[in-house]
Amino acid sequence: MTAMAPAKRSGFALVNDVVAAVRDVLGRPSSAVALHEPEFAGREWQYVKECLDTGWVSSVGSYVDRFERDLSAYTGAAHVIATSNGTSALHTCLLCAGVRAGDEVLLPTLTFIATANAVSYVAATPHFVDSEPVSLGVDAAKLDAYLRDIARLDDGVCVNRQTGAPIRALVVMHVFGHPADLDRLDEVTRRWRLVLVEDAAESLGSSYHGRHTGNVGLVSALSFNGNKVVTTGGGGAVLTNDAALGRRAKHLTTTARTPHRWSFLHDEVGYNYRLPNLNAALGCAQLERLPSMLERKRALAARYERVLAKVEGVEFLREPPGTLSNYWLNAVVLDAAHATLRDSVLAALNDATYMARPVWTLMHKLPMYSGCPRMDLDLAESMEARIVNLPSSARLGV
Ligand SMILES: *Cc1c(COP(=O)(O)O)cnc(C)c1O
Repeated sequence: MTAMAPAKRSGFALVNDVVAAVRDVLGRPSSAVALHEPEFAGREWQYVKECLDTGWVSSVGSYVDRFERDLSAYTGAAHVIATSNGTSALHTCLLCAGVRAGDEVLLPTLTFIATANAVSYVAATPHFVDSEPVSLGVDAAKLDAYLRDIARLDDGVCVNRQTGAPIRALVVMHVFGHPADLDRLDEVTRRWRLVLVEDAAESLGSSYHGRHTGNVGLVSALSFNGNKVVTTGGGGAVLTNDAALGRRAKHLTTTARTPHRWSFLHDEVGYNYRLPNLNAALGCAQLERLPSMLERKRALAARYERVLAKVEGVEFLREPPGTLSNYWLNAVVLDAAHATLRDSVLAALNDATYMARPVWTLMHKLPMYSGCPRMDLDLAESMEARIVNLPSSARLGV
């Protein structure tokens, strides 16, 4: 035997063990198992048909109002504005947060592209920060230490001493539905006079110390894309507990039209970001079944956790202490020593028709964001190399 043989065999064994564990949970499917598929098992047909029958299909209609009310009741956010998608909701959040051209906005490099793009839409500069290993959300302690290093408070404005630009806001993201450490992050943003914005696109149904995500930030965004827990086909929402900001978000997303019986008066550059009634109808039916979907997603996560606990060299990503996760996407994390096996695990799972995926390419590695300011991003880089997302549809939780 050569010295190489045991290492190779252990890698091979790890890949096989992960596939066997996933097979334990999902069985042997007759067709490919999607990463996350929508489920239409409630009143979706009825509500959508009603829109077609009555002609109320577009940007005005009772389902839009009802969807906003239902979301407000569910999340506890006093004001909810439905939007065309999660990205437009995030764009609106940054406008409401007062981010201006030339400002810097702090955000995790470990996120979906929409978070960074929204910062670009307001002509601000994304400034990338690292994540912590428990929630995969922004690392509050590391961010605080970093700001001590590179920033100063200038008349109540956080200024980047290196670039001279105001650092206006911090956008946090609840990765795979696991709530970031909002209390610590809230402290850091208060200390540095930053506006806290929550990208809660993945965390409908997730709460932090009993409060639904999206209530600590000044403004927050949800997404109802086809792969999220609740879908409207495409859609999103802005959440806020500030009445004036709620009115502002509504104004901006409805072409900034001022009320009048017949005149077309607009008092600033607004956006056509309204969610159509047709999509809101779908959303109302989906929300009715959210508790059932969440229950089955938890059951699925518990089964993954149980079988993966027996696999040496990997760890199932659990909800952080003090939080309740919606387990939007289940994730298994390879130990650092096995990072080189990620692609083998992905290939083996996909060969077995389980649609497994790596996490997003980190934002600072993409061509349009590679020149942006950033802190040391060690943890995010290590995680990117080791995360494998597993099929997570509610129906798999039986
Ligand atoms: C899904 C998602 C969004 C919004 O996406 P849309 O497709 O525009 O609805 C934003 N941020 C994150 C982290 C997301 O996962």
